Amino acid sequence: MYFDPLYLVFAIPGLLLGLYAQFKLSSTYGKYRRVPAESGLSGAQAARRILDDAGLSDVPVAEIPGNLTDHYDPRKRALFLSSQNFNERSLSAVGVAAHEAGHALQQQVGYAPLNFRMAIVPVTNFASMASYFILAGSVMLHYFIGFSGPLFSHLLTLGIILFAITALFQAITLPVEFDASRRAKEQLFRLGIVSGSERTAVSQVLGAAAMTYVAAMITMLLQLVYWISVASRERR
Ligand SMILES: [Zn+2]
Repeated sequence: MYFDPLYLVFAIPGLLLGLYAQFKLSSTYGKYRRVPAESGLSGAQAARRILDDAGLSDVPVAEIPGNLTDHYDPRKRALFLSSQNFNERSLSAVGVAAHEAGHALQQQVGYAPLNFRMAIVPVTNFASMASYFILAGSVMLHYFIGFSGPLFSHLLTLGIILFAITALFQAITLPVEFDASRRAKEQLFRLGIVSGSERTAVSQVLGAAAMTYVAAMITMLLQLVYWISVASRERR
């Protein structure tokens, strides 16, 4: 089985960064999960209050199983919170719930990056699958049966373009996530759900969550650079 050592050079930093971001998130989240919010509100109640205040009483807040499965579904216009964030009255639960409510606020005001992300979901799902098959498939054929020439080079280019589309989707996730957290904090403080002394804690939880998106983005960019280097090596 052929293995390209250069791949490790590009894969390991992303992997380490991803692990670090995950570790940071679970430790920060875990720490403030044990700190009750002074307001006494659960995650579900905090989200409800933010939504109602914005005139979004018709957006339901539902409980779903799983760990950190929290998300806002713009198609259903519904907010889903994992059982712990739905029920618990901690700073972590309130922070995550408010973040998801932040996505509902984005949709309400027609925040362009959110609409763009929604619109390109089907395209990127296809692009990500197709790029994987094309890149892995052609490289394998290259090393096993000596597949090369213009077709090989065109396939690599096509795979890279599809991969770049996937990376673009990942990139648009960053402003969407940062903006949702910004809106969340604004509403939490404005509505008095989080007190002045609790601000830092909530910011830390949301900052740690955002870090995982940054790590995923960097991982993808490194992979993209790897594939571009493979293609230019083969062309020589
Ligand atoms: Zn989010």
